[in-house]
Amino acid sequence: MSTLGDSLITITHRPELVFAQGQGSWLLDEAGKRYLDLVQGWAVNSLGHAPAVIAQALSEQARRLLNPSPAFYNRPMLDLADRLVALSCFDRVFLASSGAEANEAAVKLARRWGRKHRGGAHEIISFEQGFHGRTLAMMSASGKPGWDRIYTPMPAGFAKARLNDIESVARAAGPDAVAVMIEFVQGEAGVNLADPGFVRELRALCSERELLLIADEVQTGIGRCGRAFAYELFDVEPDLMTLAKGLGGGVPLSALLCKQAFNCFEPGDQGGTYCGNPLMAAVGLAVLDEVCRPEFLAAVRQRARYLAQGLQQIVRDHGLLGERGAGLLRALVLPGNQAEQVVAAARELAPVGLLLNAPRPNLLRFMPALNISEAEIDQALDLLRAALRQVLG
Ligand SMILES: *Cc1c(COP(=O)(O)O)cnc(C)c1O
Repeated sequence: MSTLGDSLITITHRPELVFAQGQGSWLLDEAGKRYLDLVQGWAVNSLGHAPAVIAQALSEQARRLLNPSPAFYNRPMLDLADRLVALSCFDRVFLASSGAEANEAAVKLARRWGRKHRGGAHEIISFEQGFHGRTLAMMSASGKPGWDRIYTPMPAGFAKARLNDIESVARAAGPDAVAVMIEFVQGEAGVNLADPGFVRELRALCSERELLLIADEVQTGIGRCGRAFAYELFDVEPDLMTLAKGLGGGVPLSALLCKQAFNCFEPGDQGGTYCGNPLMAAVGLAVLDEVCRPEFLAAVRQRARYLAQGLQQIVRDHGLLGERGAGLLRALVLPGNQAEQVVAAARELAPVGLLLNAPRPNLLRFMPALNISEAEIDQALDLLRAALRQVLG
């Protein structure tokens, strides 16, 4: 008899349980235990587990047309691009499968534009602590400490600035700089919010120096922050934007959006076997139909206020250091490096467990389904209190 995961290449420490089924905010493991899920595949399942609209879109599209090849148009590809253009400040869309892949496409487009219009400028400025994915180039773009050393040699052409420090961006922007890539809320770094003033200054700096402003909205987009896209919170328009996670509602789907002025790929410059495949595009359409309705987004903001208030009460009652976030992407700061212990204690609660995420040793991150109910938030907060009592006393 083999032990759990013996045939898998180890990439992370996984708990000794196997998930079998999910519905809305709930997961069920093979032993029959239920978990209230505030991770949702890392902010991926915007409508929770196994929503009927996705099951329907998948099964209808699977029976109709799976993949005619990215070299041909298909109807869901065209409709999804039209919908994204109608919902956003952008004019053109490239569809792909993962966040890293969309970000790579953004960097390629910026470099293509730099070659055509900026005398070969190619350097991308991104931010310390930032996260843009796990391809080699996106590891270079990310600001995770140590990531420049694991797989050397790394792709070159990425400079770093500090979030909320406009002088650091101005200093990093040498003559070869072509773009600035930013997460308006740094997710993996621990839900660090950009200041509105900084974002306005950044937009102005980019315009003045002919730098493209690339918004990585892989985590913040599609309702996560209470608006269709987080750039709306800052009253600025980026030049390029990437989406993934919430766009697919659980399936691999991502997008690069750009303004017409930067639509400068030549045929053959960019592509991919699954880019614009109708099966995933049909799911993206189903997700947008639901999430980007004004009433749905208003309800997300209401649920976010409710969750934030509950977390603030927990900060006061348990002597934590603070709570922050945008919409339903929120974090709690613990007094010390107990986050992994709290995650484990919450998961092991019985009869019902709570699934949490700890992106930093002293920080818990919350990214529930956008349609979580207030009763489920109440239950999650009760379970969180129980886990905190066990770990912090
Ligand atoms: C998750 C994430 C990515 C990477 O997305 P993948 O689909 O895992 O490649 C990129 N940027 C941000 C901001 C993310 O949160």
